[in-house]
Amino acid sequence: MIKIFEIMKSAFVFRARNFLPFSFSLFIFEIKVNYFETIITDMNISNRLRLFQAFSRRRALLICLIFLPAFLFSLLILFSSYPQLVETFYARGLFAGIAMILSRLSAVVPFSLSEVSLYGGILLALFWARRGIRQRRIGRALLELLAGVVILLSWFYFSWGFNYLRPPISKQLHFASAAPDSLALRENFLWCVEKTNAAWQPVAKWNLQNLDQEIERGYAEVFAELNLPAISGRWPPKFLLLPQLLDYTLTSGIFGPFFHEAHLNAHLLPVEMPFVLAHEKAHGRGFARESEASFIALLVCLRSNTPAIHYSAYFSVLGRFRARYRQYADYDSLKQLIRPEIVADVEAVWKRIEKYMGPLAEFSQKSYDVYLRANQVEGGTENYSDVVDLVVGWRKSHQETIPQ
Ligand SMILES: [Zn+2]
Repeated sequence: MIKIFEIMKSAFVFRARNFLPFSFSLFIFEIKVNYFETIITDMNISNRLRLFQAFSRRRALLICLIFLPAFLFSLLILFSSYPQLVETFYARGLFAGIAMILSRLSAVVPFSLSEVSLYGGILLALFWARRGIRQRRIGRALLELLAGVVILLSWFYFSWGFNYLRPPISKQLHFASAAPDSLALRENFLWCVEKTNAAWQPVAKWNLQNLDQEIERGYAEVFAELNLPAISGRWPPKFLLLPQLLDYTLTSGIFGPFFHEAHLNAHLLPVEMPFVLAHEKAHGRGFARESEASFIALLVCLRSNTPAIHYSAYFSVLGRFRARYRQYADYDSLKQLIRPEIVADVEAVWKRIEKYMGPLAEFSQKSYDVYLRANQVEGGTENYSDVVDLVVGWRKSHQETIPQ
């Protein structure tokens, strides 16, 4: 009985404590409404409309500049601490739905919506800034531009970007991925040289539709076997209207997270194309980290019935092994084991890209490095070479599966 009385007493105190500020805020609200009503009853329709628009704009700005960033930031903090939450509710939930719908919609359009929107967005931003300067409302125009950036950033994370915070693929597939010691690295490097030598063949120009279908078939098989989430999206290869954008930034392919599009550099050599396409399709399926996209691309390419696709995958991964093993004294003697035809293919790729080396390429590489680090990808652009760790770890635990 005494306990019930105590509870009732504390409930009363709680109510009384909250009653005052609550009634005060109601009082202020009523004054505001009354004041607003007396103003607008004296106004004509167009002035009322203008006032309403000003209120709506201010409210939209407030949402974009304060509430949206706060919400996004809170989610990023929460997801960073609980990767399994990202996997369950985002990667296999919201993201899977968005990817299925958006990739299928954007696949209908033969050109890159991402590229056209980029140009349109730049023009719109310039127009907005110019209007702000003309109307002497620079501060307001800048705030509105900032609100636009916040909306874009939010869409980036909700449509794809939270995938950076998923658990690592090695955890999902139950194997240990760690930087190998020099002996293990040497053995795996030699394995990769042997596989690439055996897979070598001249690669002819691809029929893109056939290549797309073959890689999709590989994805269906590999994902079913590994119990990875199958997303029934469509990511046909797309090329940019201005391919130089990718040339001068030394980009072989790029996934567009805003419209879920897989882009290829139009100047890729046939030997590069299958692996790059498979890599971008892994991004499309929500594997954001570069090393993981390359690792999945390797598994998928090796599942193909087309030997030239195997060669493309080994050729690309061999490049990562070479970069990793270069520091050791016997590298020069080991690299002599690589077939001269493969060395010629490497030189052809180098010839394709070397003319675009310059400050723009350097700037874009540095920017991408910052972007990856900001999304908690350890090592930034060095993450590409971490595919070596995944291959070594996978071979160790699934020795029988990877070598074809
Ligand atoms: Zn990538």
